[in-house]
Amino acid sequence: MARKLKICVTDECVGDGLCVEEAPKTFEMNDDNLAVVKEGKIDDEETILNAAEACPTDAIVVTDEATGEQIFPEP
Ligand code: SF4
Repeated sequence: MARKLKICVTDECVGDGLCVEEAPKTFEMNDDNLAVVKEGKIDDEETILNAAEACPTDAIVVTDEATGEQIFPEP
């Protein structure tokens, strides 16, 4: 079974929208042109991690919700 991911966008976001292009079901831009995580995210883990890797400032932090282990950026 897929692990449940906790996804955060930090204030390092520079608003280039790359994560929204990579994983549009998970991320969207807010009124301040910063990325936020959508409610009820449904992209798969690979897609979410691709989006996190595409972020130029490593503003997307992904952790395993069950264990608290940080998955990306690699600690
Ligand atoms: S890819 Fe990173 S910098 Fe770009 S909008 Fe998403 S979180 Fe912000």
